[in-house]
Amino acid sequence: MAKRYPLPAQRLHSMVNLGNTFMSAQTFAPRSLETEIQFLKGIGPRLAPLFGKLGVKTVADLLFHVPRRYEDRRNIPPIRSVRPGQHATVRGELIEVSSATKGRGMVIIKATIADESGQINLTWFNQPWIGKKLREYKGEILAYGMVKEAHYGCEISSPEWETVGEEEEAEEFGKIVPVYALSEGIPQKTIRRAVRFALDQYLPLVRDPLTPPILKAQMLRPLRWSITQIHRPESDEFRAQARQRLVFEDFFYMQLALQMRRLQSHQEEGIGFPLAALDVPVLQEIEGMLPFDMTGAQKRVLGEILRDMESPHPMNRLVQGDVGSGKTAIAAAAMLAAVRCGYQAALMAPTEILAEQHYINLHRLFDPHGIKTVLMVGKLSTKDKRKAIDEAATGTAQIAIGTHALIQQGVSFHRLGLAIVDEQHRFGVMQRAALRQKGLTTPDVVVMTATPIPRTLTMTVFGDLDLSVIDELPPGRKSIKTHWKQANERGAIYSSIRSLIAEGQQAYFVCPMISESEKMQTQAAEDLFYRLSSIQYPGFRVGLLHGQMKPTEKEATMEAFRRHELDILVSTVVIEVGVDVPNAGIMVIEDAHRFGLTQLHQLRGRVGRSSQQSFCVLISDGRNEEARGRLEALVATNDGFRIAETDLRLRGPGEIAGTKQSGNLDFKVADLVQDGKMLEVARQAAIDLLKSDPNLELPEHAAILDRVLGQKGNRALVTVS
Ligand code: ADP
Ligand code: MG
Repeated sequence: MAKRYPLPAQRLHSMVNLGNTFMSAQTFAPRSLETEIQFLKGIGPRLAPLFGKLGVKTVADLLFHVPRRYEDRRNIPPIRSVRPGQHATVRGELIEVSSATKGRGMVIIKATIADESGQINLTWFNQPWIGKKLREYKGEILAYGMVKEAHYGCEISSPEWETVGEEEEAEEFGKIVPVYALSEGIPQKTIRRAVRFALDQYLPLVRDPLTPPILKAQMLRPLRWSITQIHRPESDEFRAQARQRLVFEDFFYMQLALQMRRLQSHQEEGIGFPLAALDVPVLQEIEGMLPFDMTGAQKRVLGEILRDMESPHPMNRLVQGDVGSGKTAIAAAAMLAAVRCGYQAALMAPTEILAEQHYINLHRLFDPHGIKTVLMVGKLSTKDKRKAIDEAATGTAQIAIGTHALIQQGVSFHRLGLAIVDEQHRFGVMQRAALRQKGLTTPDVVVMTATPIPRTLTMTVFGDLDLSVIDELPPGRKSIKTHWKQANERGAIYSSIRSLIAEGQQAYFVCPMISESEKMQTQAAEDLFYRLSSIQYPGFRVGLLHGQMKPTEKEATMEAFRRHELDILVSTVVIEVGVDVPNAGIMVIEDAHRFGLTQLHQLRGRVGRSSQQSFCVLISDGRNEEARGRLEALVATNDGFRIAETDLRLRGPGEIAGTKQSGNLDFKVADLVQDGKMLEVARQAAIDLLKSDPNLELPEHAAILDRVLGQKGNRALVTVS
């Protein structure tokens, strides 16, 4: 078969019928990349639905169905040289097939293959059809999988495998062969053949949306070359270059959408707060109210926020700072600025407990200065809710604090100027838009998060926001000492904590997360509460907090803990985010393996909020490797950003951002874990391109704009005039 190389664009129109001498007359039917897959040779209506399951519906989908891995058939090692503990491809003559049934009807198929150097066993469990197929087969087999030590020599269990027929022999021998993700019923060979066919017949129809200057500046290969090399690589180097090109594109269109959104909001009409006209500068006034001076990082971030507020365009800013870095004080200062300019401010939190805490703190801070604060949470009595809604609507209250209740229908503001979203890492573009609509003129929006989000995710989920980072903790903080203990060490831990509490420290005990059900969770909290208050620590004052308590009860318990009228607080994860009781220096997390990594980091962030030495004890037998990975990561570092990177590696990006559904993170080729560098490159390239053509209006960028708008999730971001 002829190899294909990229050709200059002008020759491509005439290229449709070039190069495949085997092509029969009827395959010259009108073709497009949108041709349904069933019309491809060798697929047909029976196999097409199976391809559909892989998301491959059209020829274009197939061309972009990137191999999952590759098999280098240029040098398959002799069987004798494979070693246990490595992934290996082996090739040999099938010499024996046997099947055995073990306890509970488990069927084990064992096949032995051999080459001149030796032999190896392949085993499959509960897949009797493999036995049937193999018994009917004579010839060579290729298998790939993890090599393990077995009774006699080596073994690969549940390998991927295929027979080696003459036809492929010619095609694939001595090459790097693609291995695709499959759905059941599609053999590897079928998909390879289909891709080969699509490359032969349809590749010339592919247009490269990227212009030559972009390709040159980013040192990227052209699209057709890349598609060819990703499927039929001539070398590892070419394959890597092809992949880089496709990854760039994956990121580039999304970054363009995000940056266009960002630039557009810089153009929109917003509020220009007359901060310079204030009698007392905001920083000076807030520092007069707070019992501490702001850190350098807090001042810098506040400065960035105030500058945005002064500008006549809407602010959309993300403030990122690890747990305990002092985000609330910044929020308070920004709200004060809005109020002093005659506007209202709203602060939204993810949980009622956090909203209540913010309310208590800010009320205490602002009330003496004549600034009225209201609380708006779902579970308020109808009467209280009515009153709060009224005060926001009439402007009697300058500051409203609440949960999602704030963006619900029926809530309106007299003159909303600033909205702050605290710890809402799942608060996407849409909800931000809902919040913005609560003001007459688009209010300024600040999103604050401690959830360690890796930089790559910040650039994707929050890529349309301007970023401020608080990279400094308040002075005098000691780093939290984290210990991971086995369940059978619990007694000893409880005793050592006893003496710390006796010295005046306070402790959180987080009960195991046993189910999603609030009822079961409450039960678990009550059990732990009973165990601690009556058996372990009868001499101490123990409180209980869980999601099923009434808001007033929760508030009262939190307040008692805050005032040190309780020594120990037994709680569910309701305290996960935001809760701030500086004197509490001990955090015990029961069955810690049941919590996610960032969740554990957030929980731990409840301590270490003063200059005393704090401790976090994770109690867990660490049953599986993944759980152990999480616990070890936590013991190893207090740095939220490092934890975030680990979390991304352990869990994958969709889970973390909770934005799977947004479509923003659906990449064809790119992988946020390994391609972080390319993401930065694509982001910068997007910024550069928009500098010369902010709305992608130039004709040479039409194809790019088309891709930007065509990508799921981007439409919500970009308004095209
Ligand atoms: P975050 O929301 O970033 O986790 P908080 O705003 O709750 O952090 O602040 C953590 C604790 O540090 C609070 O008790 C707060 O009063 C205190 N704090 C914040 N800024 C400073 C500062 N500049 N100096 C001393 N303490 C501070
Ligand atoms: Mg906070």
